[in-house]
Amino acid sequence: MFHKILIANRGEIALRVLRAAKELGIQTVAVHSTADADAMHVRLADESVCIGPPPSRDSYLNIHQILAACEITGADAIHPGYGFLSENAKFADILAAHNITFIGPSADHIRIMGDKITAKRTARDLGIPVVPGSDGAVTDDRDAKRIAAEIGYPVLIKASAGGGGRGMKVARTEADLSEALSTARSEAGAAFGDDAVYIEKYLEKPRHIEVQVMGDGAGNAIHLGERDCSLQRRHQKVWEEANSPALNVEQRMKIGETVATAMADLGYSGAGTIEFLYENGEFYFIEMNTRLQVEHPVTEAITGIDLVHEQIRVASGGGLSSSQGDVRFEGHAIECRINAEDPRTFTPSPGTISHFHTPGGLGVRVDSGVYSGYRIPPYYDSLIGKLIVHGRNRVECMMRLRRALDEFVVDGIKTTLPLFQDLVGNPDIANGDYDIHWLENYLAKGH
Ligand code: ADP
Repeated sequence: MFHKILIANRGEIALRVLRAAKELGIQTVAVHSTADADAMHVRLADESVCIGPPPSRDSYLNIHQILAACEITGADAIHPGYGFLSENAKFADILAAHNITFIGPSADHIRIMGDKITAKRTARDLGIPVVPGSDGAVTDDRDAKRIAAEIGYPVLIKASAGGGGRGMKVARTEADLSEALSTARSEAGAAFGDDAVYIEKYLEKPRHIEVQVMGDGAGNAIHLGERDCSLQRRHQKVWEEANSPALNVEQRMKIGETVATAMADLGYSGAGTIEFLYENGEFYFIEMNTRLQVEHPVTEAITGIDLVHEQIRVASGGGLSSSQGDVRFEGHAIECRINAEDPRTFTPSPGTISHFHTPGGLGVRVDSGVYSGYRIPPYYDSLIGKLIVHGRNRVECMMRLRRALDEFVVDGIKTTLPLFQDLVGNPDIANGDYDIHWLENYLAKGH
């Protein structure tokens, strides 16, 4: 087991990792920018090191400074959280060269899944169902027309290096195709420095359903069920639940087993998420995230398995704590992402939180790094906390969520809490009847 883990992140996820390390009796090192000197993860860590000025590229993305912090403190492993360096294969390589364990998959697996074309090919070869589309990048408009005609319009042009929902263009007819291709190429070139694009079938009303996996890197992998993350705004997840209201037990086990077998064959190590679009009973792979995800607590709630403990165990060579047969899916869980944003316009609302009171009671978990008197720095994302509620079934979970939202008080700044209060009372949400466009349509109607 590790002696000391350095947490190369900030906010709620830094605290989340710190808690898991403490439970395992491992020393913790927080790193922080000058803007985060008062952050909770810094206060609770055994040691902390300032790694630079507020901009992320000078601090949380500054590999030299993070390595120096490891050297000074004697940390033998780094947990990258999500975002920042968590899917940076070069970072994983550099740590390996310095004999520091990266708590995550191998650099090769990060690299494969970081390129969408390679990821899709790999997934297909491993037996995972993928969205019909071009086999690789399309460089020629005539090829593009042929492929689009074969799969049928509408089609989606996607950037191989894409991320965060950027660099995608829909072509509804052949007449739109050339323009969609050239806009997607130039946007991808400008945003990612790589203008490779590919084509896939555009699914009209899919749900976003993702499967959580854990591999031991030695040919064993298990799945921990799925999460339904269909409620999105601008391709950003807003509300996540487990299990998906759209799947039955057989469907859950079938897709879970397909993915777990694929990850075992790949020799995958650590936590990963295979993301699918789901329409008319079929799953279509869109990407794999080779890290812990923001929404992992809903999986923890229904399985009782601490995913960060598992990550640390696997990275230290201890293997998986459970076999597939040990995993039980109990009840239902929902997570709401609470952002410091105006609930109508979604413009960021940084500032000082004058009062912060979190709900409690059975089945309620709040993961947050903020507190009364905390000043939200304007440099980072606007997530200030996550409310995760668990019930014996979806109805009980929704009742508990409504109650927990009523108890939650954040004064001094605007937050997205009122949005969730609206959602929890909506009949479509109550029925679990929504797809990936539902929230955008709902917001467009002026709710
Ligand atoms: P990124 O890495 O940029 O987030 P993804 O491939 O994960 O890109 O896709 C992001 C979102 O875009 C999906 O959650 C979905 O809403 C939409 N999307 C992606 N591919 C398709 C598709 N083939 N048809 C319809 N919507 C899609």
